[in-house]
Amino acid sequence: MANFETVQVETDLLILGGGMASCGAAVEAAYWAKKNGLKVTLVDKAAVDRSGAVAMGLSAINQYVGLKEGDNTVEEYVNYVKQDLMGVARDDLVASIARHVDGSVHLFEKWGLPIWKAEEGGYVHEGRWQLMINGESYKVIVAEAAKNHLGVENIIERVFIVGPIMKDGQVAGAYGFSVRENKFYIFKARAVFCAMGGAVHVFKPRSTGEGLGRAWYPPWNSGSSLYFTLKAGAEQTCQEVRFIPVRFKDAYGPVGAWFLLFKSRATNAFGGEYMVERRDELQNWKPYGLVKPIPANLRNYLGMLDVMEGKGPIYMRTEEALQKIANEYKDDPKAHKAKVKELESEAWEDFLDMTISQAILWAASNVEPEKRSSEIAAAEPYFIGSHSGASGAWVSGPEDLAPPEYFWGYENMCTVKGLFAAGDATGASSHKFSSGSHAEGRIAGKAAIRYLVNENPPKPTIDDATIEALKAKTLKPIELFEEHSGFTSQVDVNPNYILPKMYMFRLQKLMDEYAGGVGSQFTTSKVLCERGLELLDMLKEDSDFLAAADLHELMRCWENYHRTYQAEAHVRTMLFREETRWPGYYFRADFPKLDNENWLCFVNCTMDPETEEWTMLKRDILPMK
Ligand SMILES: Cc1cc2nc3c(=O)[nH]c(=O)nc-3n(C[C@H](O)[C@H](O)[C@H](O)COP(=O)(O)OP(=O)(O)OC[C@H]3O[C@@H](n4cnc5c(N)ncnc54)[C@H](O)[C@@H]3O)c2cc1C
Repeated sequence: MANFETVQVETDLLILGGGMASCGAAVEAAYWAKKNGLKVTLVDKAAVDRSGAVAMGLSAINQYVGLKEGDNTVEEYVNYVKQDLMGVARDDLVASIARHVDGSVHLFEKWGLPIWKAEEGGYVHEGRWQLMINGESYKVIVAEAAKNHLGVENIIERVFIVGPIMKDGQVAGAYGFSVRENKFYIFKARAVFCAMGGAVHVFKPRSTGEGLGRAWYPPWNSGSSLYFTLKAGAEQTCQEVRFIPVRFKDAYGPVGAWFLLFKSRATNAFGGEYMVERRDELQNWKPYGLVKPIPANLRNYLGMLDVMEGKGPIYMRTEEALQKIANEYKDDPKAHKAKVKELESEAWEDFLDMTISQAILWAASNVEPEKRSSEIAAAEPYFIGSHSGASGAWVSGPEDLAPPEYFWGYENMCTVKGLFAAGDATGASSHKFSSGSHAEGRIAGKAAIRYLVNENPPKPTIDDATIEALKAKTLKPIELFEEHSGFTSQVDVNPNYILPKMYMFRLQKLMDEYAGGVGSQFTTSKVLCERGLELLDMLKEDSDFLAAADLHELMRCWENYHRTYQAEAHVRTMLFREETRWPGYYFRADFPKLDNENWLCFVNCTMDPETEEWTMLKRDILPMK
């Protein structure tokens, strides 16, 4: 086998991932670590300047409460989130983020992020909680602050984290490999903060062929947070709450600015407005169907009903929205012309700021938004606990807000000692988005340092045999390829191994067909879930034969291992919850109704890290103190 050097790194706090949550954790932890003589190290599989979901930039900050301005209260944000999630959210966690999120936004501005200002003063709001930004360089700015606080010497890029190292039930570090050099990494740490994002490509995407990597969620987040925390023995929550965004079709361009800023309508192909024509359907989902704003999954669902009845495609009426705004200037031709130009440039900039490919698709297909509507469609399912999904680790709330059942010592600590999480990695605290993930990272980073100071956990020692075993397991796909690739003339057809792309197709196909993907109209049932689990079991058996021709493919192999566990957590949780609570995200055909009497609760799960046996459990939804 190719020679791989073993690199060992020792630190006090290990930050996994360099996305929004980790950059928040880095800033806060660095400050408190310096005061206490502690070392903090951050590791990411990519380059933190452009890593994670904000890599391309964003055109809006989606969580700003406006406490100083007196615009809203923390309680109002908590109510909004809970309604949107059909009653299933942790009040204490949502409130904890909401009371700190404005601070993160003010930091972004201080660090140089241009936030739109209104002529009359204050920020320009896209909606009640959203601020418009010139966000092409959002991630670069946030990463620069993390680097300045932590010091570049404490940031290790292009290292893929495979899994946790545990000692006596406590987290003791992590292991992984460089995606650029033949190096295997062992990180020994007294506490670990995990924020490696959510997961995409678990389900078959709408995109095929050369467009395969084009998904709404960034293709490089592949379930590593779930795998890491699950394999550490941490309890998970809301693993059934996937997110299905309705976005501009094929390039997944954002719709927020169109709905909220330009006040555009979405209609079916015959001009019918499903949000109006299907209003009565909302009665079936009360009390949540009757609140404002209508939960995201129910809005999706009403559109899906039109599509299922053959009334698609669904269109965003861009031309109508822009003309309506410009018509306010119709008596002044010069002002009217200027307004049309301004709106046109805002429409394009909205995409160029965060989904460049949508602008390219529009240009390639001769779309002029001021003249012609564009198709929108429900995307395939994603796992993103920070947005409108809710899957992630079950973490402790803050002492002053959390009821005793939700508090075990340190904010954002998982049910495993010394393991902290934030952003997409934590569950039941949706709608934190980029700013809230950063704020949650700050909360968790500070708590992790407090844990180190108060508990003073011992420096972990890891024996050579353990290191060698982890190394062999990590690099097995390379070894398998080297051993067998000469057996056939075509490297991707070989009876001795399976290449990562083929494996991913198999996973996506079974999730699409049995777990309610696009191809099965987001519908599943007990028998479908059970059959899906059976097929997942066989896929897991075959994962032993994943093979990699190079380091890039080794990363692809491990991404697939991680996705497989995300898939299993999802199917098991959907199977356990015998109701339909989030139509528009998924539909249980055998339990087609909301059942508040039995299922207004969290569904949590754990997996025994050794035996890989799963336990499913219900947890009460409790108000904050
Ligand atoms: C398409 C899209 C549009 C969005 N639009 C908005 C918006 O308009 N406004 C807004 O406020 N929010 C928006 N969000 C939400 C926001 O991007 C997320 O809430 C936020 O990025 C979550 O932060 P995170 O740190 O949990 O994950 P990320 O920021 O995604 O960071 C995850 C990090 O983990 C790293 N990583 C992953 N796996 C590994 C591994 N195995 N080893 C090492 N490192 C790893 C990645 O490289 C990445 O750096 C959007 C999200 C998406 C996907």
